[in-house]
Amino acid sequence: MAQKFLEMPDKDGYFGEYGGQIVSPELKAVMDEIAAAYEEVSETKEFQDELQELYADFVGRPSPIFYAKRLSEKQGGARIFLKREDLNHTGAHKINHCLGQALLAKHMGKTKVLAETGAGQHGVALATACALVGIPCEIHMGEIDIKKEHPNVTKMKILGCNLIPVTRGGKTLKDAVDSAFEEYLKDPENFLYAIGSVVGPHPFPKMVRDFQSIVGREARAQFLARENKLPDVVTACVGGGSNAIGIFTEFLPDESVRLVGIEPAGKGLDTPDNAATLSLGKKGTLHGFKCYTLQDDKGELLPVYSIASGLDYPGVGPQHCYLKDIGRVEYEAITDKECLDAFLTLSRVEGIIPALESSHAVAYAMKIAKELGPDRTILVNLSGRGDKDADFIANYLGIN
Ligand SMILES: *Cc1c(COP(=O)(O)O)cnc(C)c1O
Repeated sequence: MAQKFLEMPDKDGYFGEYGGQIVSPELKAVMDEIAAAYEEVSETKEFQDELQELYADFVGRPSPIFYAKRLSEKQGGARIFLKREDLNHTGAHKINHCLGQALLAKHMGKTKVLAETGAGQHGVALATACALVGIPCEIHMGEIDIKKEHPNVTKMKILGCNLIPVTRGGKTLKDAVDSAFEEYLKDPENFLYAIGSVVGPHPFPKMVRDFQSIVGREARAQFLARENKLPDVVTACVGGGSNAIGIFTEFLPDESVRLVGIEPAGKGLDTPDNAATLSLGKKGTLHGFKCYTLQDDKGELLPVYSIASGLDYPGVGPQHCYLKDIGRVEYEAITDKECLDAFLTLSRVEGIIPALESSHAVAYAMKIAKELGPDRTILVNLSGRGDKDADFIANYLGIN
């Protein structure tokens, strides 16, 4: 069973029927080259040693597991534990895969790493990794997002990345993707496009998963060491799906452990304002791979919405689509309202301000704790901290 999961994807990048490389022949050649280089470089001792040292001394790994005692008592049921990815340098799990990709670019002799960013979280993590590794970094960002996300824009500039404002189209994430991709295609031999989640054409869903799987390897060993058994439920929020696959991977062979991915239900699954791709989507293609997507009757992609900007993606990582179909992972959805309640509760009961994204997984744990009962345990991947969301929440509560 374990082998079956660990050997995925197949050589063409498929997890069952999902994933692959649905791109032009020219781009497929470039992706095949990255895949080959990744397989070769990532297995060398030199690369692994360098990555492990940076995880430890730069990111601050291993991140601890925290028993949220007061939250558990408040809910009155299962004990809730948090995997503290919020304590990583830069405040979230994204640094795990950004470091891996920046290091890969260096080992491949690339001259520039580039990417798009929406809210700026991927941009800041990548700019940080590139500053550390010593490789030029170029981030494309829509002008509207630049105005909205001032602190992240400032951080990227301080970190020395070349920030390209995108003025075409709606001036948001989608236009930034197009702009960054055009630049990439000018010289794919020398540039590396760093993808921000377990999405895009092969080998990115595999590469990003491999870099994030450190989270589950640590968490499983830490949990066993302190509790002498495995958790009953492991849960994480799902945007593209990187933090979720990161904590799930090591637990996939453990059939006794329920794995639950949490999507944003936004204003409700019965309204158009959500981004619950796995709960409501249909099979389609997006950004070079096959996955569930939110689409209308004609197959056009629908606009997506979530209170957490890191979760509003109209597709989802191909491995999640496969894990849903075979029933190994369940996917549930949490509304904005439940997310906000979890955000404030965790802040006030434990002194931990979670990211709005991560608050979706906390909300799910709070929701099921009681019915699970007191001798059960839930492990939540707390993917990031909520400093970035503080102003938004202050406005929302009218306390600024
Ligand atoms: C970006 C982000 C996410 C969503 O991305 P995934 O690839 O689904 O993990 C979740 N949590 C935080 C804190 C993020 O910054």
